[in-house]
Amino acid sequence: MSELEAVIGLEIHTQLKTRTKMFCGCELSFGEPPNTRTCPVCLGLPGALPVANARAIHFALMIGLALGCEVAPRSIFHRKNYFYPDLPKGYQISQYDEPICSGGELAGVRLHRVHLEEDAAKLIHVGESGRIHGSQRSVVDFNRGGTPLVEIVTEPELRSPGHAREWLTLLRATLRSLGVSDVNMEEGSLRADANVSLRPVGTSVLGTKTELKNMNSFRFIERGIAAEIERQRQIIESGGAVEQETLHFDPSSGRLSSLRSKEEAEDYRYFPEPDLIPIATTDEMVSAARADIGELPLDRAKRFEADLGLNADGARNLAFRGELGDYFERVLGSTGAEHAVAVANWIGQLVARIGDADPADTNVTPQAFGALVMLVGSRAVSGAAAREVLDVLVAEGGDPQAIIDARGLGSLSRKDGDLATIVARAIAADPSASERVRAGNDKAIGALVGAVMRETRGRADGAEVTRLIHEQLAT
Ligand code: ADP
Ligand code: ZN
Ligand code: MG
Repeated sequence: MSELEAVIGLEIHTQLKTRTKMFCGCELSFGEPPNTRTCPVCLGLPGALPVANARAIHFALMIGLALGCEVAPRSIFHRKNYFYPDLPKGYQISQYDEPICSGGELAGVRLHRVHLEEDAAKLIHVGESGRIHGSQRSVVDFNRGGTPLVEIVTEPELRSPGHAREWLTLLRATLRSLGVSDVNMEEGSLRADANVSLRPVGTSVLGTKTELKNMNSFRFIERGIAAEIERQRQIIESGGAVEQETLHFDPSSGRLSSLRSKEEAEDYRYFPEPDLIPIATTDEMVSAARADIGELPLDRAKRFEADLGLNADGARNLAFRGELGDYFERVLGSTGAEHAVAVANWIGQLVARIGDADPADTNVTPQAFGALVMLVGSRAVSGAAAREVLDVLVAEGGDPQAIIDARGLGSLSRKDGDLATIVARAIAADPSASERVRAGNDKAIGALVGAVMRETRGRADGAEVTRLIHEQLAT
């Protein structure tokens, strides 16, 4: 049997950060009491009439232009009919065959379309404790219903779970830089569905796909796609056929379960929304959207490379997580751009400690962080001791110099007679290594430096220790 390759297409929904909903004047909701941000329009009461939100259209144009899409001079809304308790009208207002933007490309992955629609309400399933008369209860909060959404659909051109994750990271950074959405996956303002199929390497016909619904973290998306590729591989290799269906990935068990067999477009009985006029996109609207687009992450990464001397990976790591890029630039504000490479490396250390958190939300102020990097640069503190200082900064904040003083973490240098004594002790304790160094074997010095570092708990300056060892062995 020929080798199989994965084909992945993504559908991303992003909630727009407008003041009001897509088709009514209700303000968007951020944790208000349930059903307090509703009106006849977003509750789907008979006779209520929708009006499209101009700001949402502006945001959709910004997204489309940033992604290199073609903007339609005329686009219309459709009704997508289905019955579910989170959809009071019995249909969602969306766009169908005349979306506001189509085509486009981001980092080599082509886009199919970018369109506007409204979010559904939120169903809340009350757990065990909420059981009434032995049955489980579900309630609906209509606050979310009608929130503006932009849906971004890629062509099936992503090649692996890791590629999907990396690309989504860049897409999120792009949306974030536009300021059109909070792009928070845990809170649901960014949601991604992954379509997955397999085909023999070297063929171009697409295999039957399945759809993984609404995964709420990049890590789960990567793991879910990997699990689904493996499931399909087993089916195909054992001679079976993949069935088109919608699946749920449970990150805790790693299992995939079927939600429903996939519906076709005709199941939704799309028809043009008669209560809304078409969107006629004028040149002025396009110029206004273009004018609101600032520096995009791909350009930012290029700038970090060209102007600040970062390597390509380092530049992307910062630029593709916009909050890291922002923090980086704030730190440079206090250290000066000449320390960019060191600051970028130390942000790697910070990320190792704070994970996905935004550094701006941690105890480590950009000023304190910059001061620490400068202290390492001037050798006032060794790398190992600076990592200890960073642990303290993350845990409780504060000023690096004060932490160094309070904990005695300052570098041991030649000025402290101590260091020479410690070096002498290390030489005396390891005659065989000392002999080899004396004989010109430079590698053997590692054992002596290591002994000094252990004794000083990493506070000694490595270059200084090396010099002292050579000096003492030469006499
Ligand atoms: P549907 O009508 O089922 O929603 P679409 O053609 O609208 O399918 O595509 C939805 C998403 O699925 C797009 O991101 C597209 O790139 C992707 N996709 C379509 N066919 C395949 C396939 N065979 N394998 C993987 N992804 C696919
Ligand atoms: Zn409303
Ligand atoms: Mg579709």
